[in-house]
Amino acid sequence: MRCPFCGNVDTQVKDSRPAEDHVAIRRRRFCPACAGRFTTYERVQLRDLVVIKSTGRREDFDRDKLERSIRIALQKRPVEPERMDQMISGIVRRLESMGETDIPSKAIGEIVMESLARIDTVAYVRFASVYKNFQAADDFDRFIDELRPASKTEA
Ligand SMILES: [Zn+2]
Repeated sequence: MRCPFCGNVDTQVKDSRPAEDHVAIRRRRFCPACAGRFTTYERVQLRDLVVIKSTGRREDFDRDKLERSIRIALQKRPVEPERMDQMISGIVRRLESMGETDIPSKAIGEIVMESLARIDTVAYVRFASVYKNFQAADDFDRFIDELRPASKTEA
């Protein structure tokens, strides 16, 4: 696993343990080149999902992008990181069990809004207000950029 700080590919696993009630394995990693520490998660992927944008463009589903957008919406909200991880895993499981590998980006946005509405109203409003303005373009990268100014600093 490449070090996110210096790009060195020769990093070491320091510790592995179950996380999220055994849905994931959490690995703490160390980079001998820059002494950087980071964490990776290993999860079951039932199928390879493809996101279909409103333009018709296809893109591999990226859990990290989904997580970034949710993390930004939940910034400074009283929601435990563990709870957020469980919510994201729940969203991914729902997507995986939809019976289709091709999923419209609109459907993903709606599931995220539903899930956020159940755990934090403020985060839901943040996400929904950006999402609603965004349906024409629906590019997740731009979406994340749009979300960001509402919550100044990175968590
Ligand atoms: Zn490094």
